[in-house]
Amino acid sequence: MKIAQIKCKSLLVDSGLADYAVNCYRGCGHGCRYCYARYIRRFSGHKEPWGEFVDVRINAREVLEKEVKRKPKGRVFISSVCDGWQPLEEKYRLSRACVQILLEAGFKVTILTKSAFFLQDLDILEHPRVSIGATLTTLDEDLRRLFEPGSSPTLQRIKALKAADKKGITVWVFLGPFLPEISDTEENLEALMKAIARLRLDHIYLDKLNPRPDIWPSVREVLEEHFPHLVDYYKKIFFHRPTYKAYTKRLGQAARLIAQKHNLFDTMRMSC
Ligand code: SF4
Repeated sequence: MKIAQIKCKSLLVDSGLADYAVNCYRGCGHGCRYCYARYIRRFSGHKEPWGEFVDVRINAREVLEKEVKRKPKGRVFISSVCDGWQPLEEKYRLSRACVQILLEAGFKVTILTKSAFFLQDLDILEHPRVSIGATLTTLDEDLRRLFEPGSSPTLQRIKALKAADKKGITVWVFLGPFLPEISDTEENLEALMKAIARLRLDHIYLDKLNPRPDIWPSVREVLEEHFPHLVDYYKKIFFHRPTYKAYTKRLGQAARLIAQKHNLFDTMRMSC
């Protein structure tokens, strides 16, 4: 892992996911093989594979303290192109510090993470303007290690959400993206929904795989090594629109049925 400390000029940036997003790190130690954020290498100039570099925005606190004074209050998504609670957060504590600054300044905070490490911060996250979401894709730990190598085990994320809920924090779940014929099976969807059915969730967002060409080389590499029989099918999913549309329709139908079975459908928002 190549780690660098850098200085940023701006941290509180406009975002389509909320009013703003804050990313204290450029790069992500979770290294998900399907991560859409890998496109940032085009602008950062990094040649290392995604997951093998992180730039730490070491002046994040100072920059944010100035920005919250001059920008209108709103909801802040943490984080949009990295995970705010990725392994380096344990050392730098920048996301924690930024949440404190945002809350003191009257902003709302929405967290989405694949880490259970946010448990260390429940003392500050126990706040009416905070909501915490965990991304879940599979309960199969072999698959999780293959596709999301640096993340927390899925059950740990669910347990962390439970602990946050017990503190009265608003919690939610992001299901997906699912990998066709690998993590989108009825068995996997059923296991995930059963596991979250007892949580008191504000909402669930279920997302399909977005077959962006820039994630294809990384996904193909895992397929070639572990699922060679699926390479041709994935090529169609990525590059043949009708195949992709038919696939997402099937996924949506299957997910709806399973969500209904577990009484989750009313809290569900779906992209397919
Ligand atoms: S946790 Fe999110 S940002 Fe980090 S590698 Fe995975 S998908 Fe990308």
